[in-house]
Amino acid sequence: MTALNHLTLTQAREGLAQGEFTSVELTESYLKAMEQARVLNAFTVETPDQALAMAARADARIASGDAGPLEGLPLGVKDMFATEGVATTACSNILKGFVPPYESTVTSQLWRDGAVMLGKLANDEFAMGSSTETSAFGPVVSPWRREGDTTPLVPGGSSGGSAAAVSAFLCAGATGTDTGGSIRQPAAFTGTVGIKPTYGRCSRWGIIAYASSLDQAGPFARSVNDAAILLRSMAGHDAKDSTSVNMRVPNYEDAVGVSVKGKRIGIPREYRVEGMSQEICELWEQGADMLRDAGAEIVDITLPHTKYALPTYYIVAPAEASSNLARYDGVRYGNRVPGKDIIDMYERTRAAGFGPEVRRRIMIGTYVLSAGYYDAYYLKAQRVRTLIKRDFDDVFAQGVDAILTPATPSPAFGIGEKSNADPVEMYLQDVFTVTVNLAGLPAISVPAGFSADGLPLGLQLIGRPFEEETLFALGQAVEDAAGRFPVEDHWWSR
Ligand code: GLN
Repeated sequence: MTALNHLTLTQAREGLAQGEFTSVELTESYLKAMEQARVLNAFTVETPDQALAMAARADARIASGDAGPLEGLPLGVKDMFATEGVATTACSNILKGFVPPYESTVTSQLWRDGAVMLGKLANDEFAMGSSTETSAFGPVVSPWRREGDTTPLVPGGSSGGSAAAVSAFLCAGATGTDTGGSIRQPAAFTGTVGIKPTYGRCSRWGIIAYASSLDQAGPFARSVNDAAILLRSMAGHDAKDSTSVNMRVPNYEDAVGVSVKGKRIGIPREYRVEGMSQEICELWEQGADMLRDAGAEIVDITLPHTKYALPTYYIVAPAEASSNLARYDGVRYGNRVPGKDIIDMYERTRAAGFGPEVRRRIMIGTYVLSAGYYDAYYLKAQRVRTLIKRDFDDVFAQGVDAILTPATPSPAFGIGEKSNADPVEMYLQDVFTVTVNLAGLPAISVPAGFSADGLPLGLQLIGRPFEEETLFALGQAVEDAAGRFPVEDHWWSR
């Protein structure tokens, strides 16, 4: 029999419903796997007692016929989500010791639906990064390695702990947040499925803010169907987040497996970026073939403002971040370093609490927002953002249902390989993903092939606003053609 933690979330749900095993047994198998995988550094906090208590309550509800849609399924939570009574730090020293007295809306909906919490998962500090190397807890190690090579690789970021844990069978699924690619890039690096829904689909209440006009929550999973199940529970209107939309949440699972015949898929020529590797170009073509074989129509499209997306993002995101991070002053949350007066206390606290990348973003953000530079940088970036959104509007108005692109410009890289270089090297990771956040659109990353040295590669499908269902249907067509991507060498538990 397959180890319980190797079942997909969909299979585990079925096994629980059929009484083949209990949630306590399933949870124990995950807790054991977590214990054996500590070298991956995926969890910042493990909550085994809470997990087993939740599992026992889930078993009771299953027995009495009151099971919710996620009853008894063990999940991990990115450390950006506030969890009541469980340390929440955004992997920053400035929030060390912060235990929220409240639960984020998204996670409270998961528990409402019966899910079991295994613990908190590591990310880049305040979700700023593409590798988890900016985390105050140290980097997460990817469960994947290049063939015949033991170099430790990054799982991607910022939701690298979530991606690593799902890929290494340490949880049945996990939450992530995506401001510029933080769900899709780590999903691509680890052979997992990740979806960033339309801006407003999930409540941001109780999620530590990075850049409020770009941040969205979404799930990581080992199959497209698993992701669909999780998103249904995470999504929904919340009066506590004025940007969340009051729209019915579809049963996304119904869209999985629906025919994609006649769907028009756009291939944007501007995403063929300079220096893109041959294997990424090939993967992209294979993805188009997979969808064509499934009955979709492939069309060439143009998104002319694409080249401005990365510079626009790296103005808008730090601007909003610098404002959001102003609240960490040693007065209300987490760490405080005493000083001779209150200004001195603020300065000492922030200098000690924020890591170098976060400080860089604060400096960029305050600079582009400062009088004299506001028009030249921030206002200009907002205008370009509108043009980028308009590019997508135009393409969708021409009858395109979704857009296919690579998820990342490269496979996973080694720990230290990019973080020791120019910070722009790391920012270039986001070249295919930031456009989607700037335009507020939904996009899914689905594993689709391997690099020459055996690492998973992902494709991104971008959809029309609130048409996540199309993405699940197309994502399943890719999964049907490419298969699932379980990591085979479990070197970390040997
Ligand atoms: N890598 C991007 C950044 O550092 C995106 C991060 C994210 O989506 N949270 O801003």
